[in-house]
Amino acid sequence: MAQQEDVFKKIVSHCKEYGFVFPSSDIYDGLGAVYDYGQNGVELKNNIKQYWWQSMVLLHENIVGIDAAIFMHPTTWKASGHVDAFNDPLIDNRDSKKRYRADVLIEDQMAKYEDKIQKEIEKAQKRFGDNFDEAKFRATNERVLENQKKYDDLHHRYQEVMNAEGGIDLEGLKQIILDEGIVCPISGTRNWTDVRQFNLMFKTEMGSTADGASTIYLRPETAQGIFVNYLNVQKTGRMKLPFGIAQIGKAFRNEIVARQFIFRMREFEQMEMQFFIQPGTELDWFQKWKEYRMKWHQNLGFGAENYRFHDHDKLAHYANAATDIEFHMPFGFKEVEGIHSRTNFDLSQHAKYSGKKIEYFDPETNESYTPYVIETSIGVDRMFLSIMCHSYEEQQLPDGQVRTVLHLPAALAPVKLAVFPLTKKDGMPEKAQEIINDLRFHFNCKYEEKDQIGKRYRRMDAIGCPYCVTVDQQTLEDNTVTLRDRDTMEQKRVPISELRSIIEDKVSITSLLKKLL
Ligand code: ATP
Repeated sequence: MAQQEDVFKKIVSHCKEYGFVFPSSDIYDGLGAVYDYGQNGVELKNNIKQYWWQSMVLLHENIVGIDAAIFMHPTTWKASGHVDAFNDPLIDNRDSKKRYRADVLIEDQMAKYEDKIQKEIEKAQKRFGDNFDEAKFRATNERVLENQKKYDDLHHRYQEVMNAEGGIDLEGLKQIILDEGIVCPISGTRNWTDVRQFNLMFKTEMGSTADGASTIYLRPETAQGIFVNYLNVQKTGRMKLPFGIAQIGKAFRNEIVARQFIFRMREFEQMEMQFFIQPGTELDWFQKWKEYRMKWHQNLGFGAENYRFHDHDKLAHYANAATDIEFHMPFGFKEVEGIHSRTNFDLSQHAKYSGKKIEYFDPETNESYTPYVIETSIGVDRMFLSIMCHSYEEQQLPDGQVRTVLHLPAALAPVKLAVFPLTKKDGMPEKAQEIINDLRFHFNCKYEEKDQIGKRYRRMDAIGCPYCVTVDQQTLEDNTVTLRDRDTMEQKRVPISELRSIIEDKVSITSLLKKLL
């Protein structure tokens, strides 16, 4: 675990050192849980967004996009329930003065029991080899049974408390923390305050005079911008059910427990898609979207074992199914995306609060109804973090050296091709520029002439550039260059005229999209 934390720290400093992510307002020592993306970070982030947008809007004839404003009419948030119920249950440790989310403390405790079980299984697997029967082991091993019971009891109690009549039972949450003997990771004590609710929305004022100004909120999710535009898009686009609306945009949450770098930020970006369907078909569509979204993630080639679904213990009262896609980060399996079946809750609420009729006339059944919704909601920044964590490697080379390399999927890499003149003379720089001038229209290229070639390779490895080309004496004679592959470090001689066809297909988003079909 400590080793994993070290790796995570290294990834965070790598992100800063190589222009991926900086603390916001760095010269003023940063602003809590707010970050800026640097010259390489913005390219990677844009590529992630493009991969998502195109997989939704380009590959689905019945999905269209919008870009709604961050500011919305304040009644939106009354209708959506955010004013009254967008709260986190918080608890403070009196000794360390640190604040935690009570639900997260309990979920971490459940994860500990799961870890213990997993460790027993791995140990036994090693001991018994091919003869190992996991189901039998789970049903008979005493330590596994003991931890499974602890997990089940806690899980049951937790579900009851989170789904209590009239909202979360705050006293019940505290009692679980006390009964489980959960201690503050900083002070190591059980000196806890009561659990309190805290609203996560940022407020500001719109209008110039104190009297006339009204309180508005920075949107805590992008989804409501889609719901309030449902009628506009359905009518103007003459959309027929089932159809979806996709959107990418900033969201803001006054997260109290903001840790783990860009995993939990106060200003972040979401990619959300609301899919409007006929009531009664929601569980089928929920299943389809679960599968498609998992495929989208796994398509990046990080290994199926690094993903899992985590069904929600606490279903919002309007939802009838909800799951998270979790990714194996250095600090455990963590949510990257949520998929929710939200019934007709949001559209009905907006109809009620606006007094407008928000319905769909179904020409096939000759009926009007309020559509149901399946939502897929993913954080760009969490996706970014998961990609960074998986791609980062300190690789031991045969000659004893270590190279730091980012094995980014080529289609997402900020720079696709670096072109180096071997020396700064004999027309090599000019030749290198010529290559770039030709290829820059097709993908992102970078020119580098400083330092020895070996050092230049290392710099490109560190930003995940999949290909490097070196212009040397021979190039000037026969128009061939050496092409070096980031992952294998192999070099081969290729004609300049073939560079585009060799590289373009591998680095384009299209190559990823084709694998989704
Ligand atoms: P969590 O339980 O971690 O607070 P959530 O369940 O509240 O997350 P959703 O409201 O379902 O999250 O938001 C959808 C997605 O938006 C999440 O899966 C995550 O990727 C992203 N997201 C939510 N909150 C943040 C945040 N504070 N910083 C970065 N990304 C976030």
